[in-house]
Amino acid sequence: MSLNAEIICVGTELLLGDVVDTNSVTISRGLTQLGINLFHRETVGDNHDRLVRVLKSAIERCDIVITSGGLGATCDDITKEAVAEVMGVELELHEESLERIKDFFSRRNITMTDNNVKQAFLPKGAVVFPNDYGTAPVTALTKGGKTVIMLPGPPRELCPMFEEKIMPYLKENFSSSTIISDSLMLYGIGESAVEEKLCDLMRDYTNPTLAPYAKIGEVQLRITASGKDEEECRRLIKPLKEKVFERVGEYIYGVNVDSLERALNLDLREKGLTVSFAESCTGGLCAKRVIDIPGASKVIGTSVVTYSRESKMKLLQIDKNIIDTYGVISKECAFHMAKGLMALSGADISVSVTGVAGPDTDEGKDVGTVFVGVASKNGVRVKEFNFARGRREREYIRALAANAAINEARLEAKDF
Ligand code: ATP
Ligand code: MG
Repeated sequence: MSLNAEIICVGTELLLGDVVDTNSVTISRGLTQLGINLFHRETVGDNHDRLVRVLKSAIERCDIVITSGGLGATCDDITKEAVAEVMGVELELHEESLERIKDFFSRRNITMTDNNVKQAFLPKGAVVFPNDYGTAPVTALTKGGKTVIMLPGPPRELCPMFEEKIMPYLKENFSSSTIISDSLMLYGIGESAVEEKLCDLMRDYTNPTLAPYAKIGEVQLRITASGKDEEECRRLIKPLKEKVFERVGEYIYGVNVDSLERALNLDLREKGLTVSFAESCTGGLCAKRVIDIPGASKVIGTSVVTYSRESKMKLLQIDKNIIDTYGVISKECAFHMAKGLMALSGADISVSVTGVAGPDTDEGKDVGTVFVGVASKNGVRVKEFNFARGRREREYIRALAANAAINEARLEAKDF
């Protein structure tokens, strides 16, 4: 029998829209992986009575309640008090946690204030997970067949504590099966086209399951199997994965690779190649995304943001005539940007991006018109894209343009 969990996020700032609730996403994903059902998620402000009410009804409905936030040292941090009240247990001083908190402050040369002692008061009988990333201990309290797990709000504490301590705890105590999933990443095809090609598989398969997730300009397909061990899961996944590859394999750029830039990074490293970008409408986004991946110094060459006409002429040696004749949003400009960048950077693959991110049209070209140029030992080529399908937000178009440029770099690296 599978168990049910609920998540309660505590924090008025979440309700005000000041902070985006990413903790729920982290916890939800982990629960899915463990095969623990999640039917409800709630957010409540820093208010004792309302939190008590929400906790009571959650505990009635499910087996495991996971809270996020409100474990701090100030008086608006009320989660522990509310949980203790609802579960009918006392808060008591946990000496070991107090020592850790004292140590945390002394190592950082910060004076510990009296209210920090509050963080060492924990529900009696709870399993305590020392917090390696902050001062609030994480606890799991079980009583009457119900478990409440309390996690601190800051994601830099919650994410590692959840993954390193709580996931193993949940797996050991609440999850009987092993869950394995493979994530197939697709580029160049929309979510509805993917669904059309795979809808029978999505409908008919129950173990493993096949589910699509739309990302910006990409589609992720997740094949998830549940079995007694990893080997059984892999055996279940294999035939479905083969079917998916038969139908949409041409669009799959990676398996268990989280992004286009990660796939590019892997391809470049494998072949010992470097890439560089000359960016106009993406304003450095391509280089940023490639550099986001640790170890980028091995794969990235001199990259430049050449947004203005002058910078295109000065840094990339584009002839004024070319710009005057064809404009900066043109196949010709992208061609010469890539060529000029190759001379400037000396990288194996030089990629240029120029386009109209909007909101206004430019040089008579529609919003969303983007040219990507690629120069390498194989010559120079340019592709034209149009990303404006209904959504004309500048950020969206720039993200899609960066996807296209990174993908072209990846295709070039494959052919190198
Ligand atoms: P602290 O000791 O910092 O007070 P806490 O456990 O009491 O930690 P909160 O006070 O509720 O946690 O939140 C601290 C900060 O963590 C918030 O200001 C917010 O930036 C972030 N945070 C809280 N909840 C979430 C959430 N659900 N998703 C993402 N960030 C969150
Ligand atoms: Mg707080």
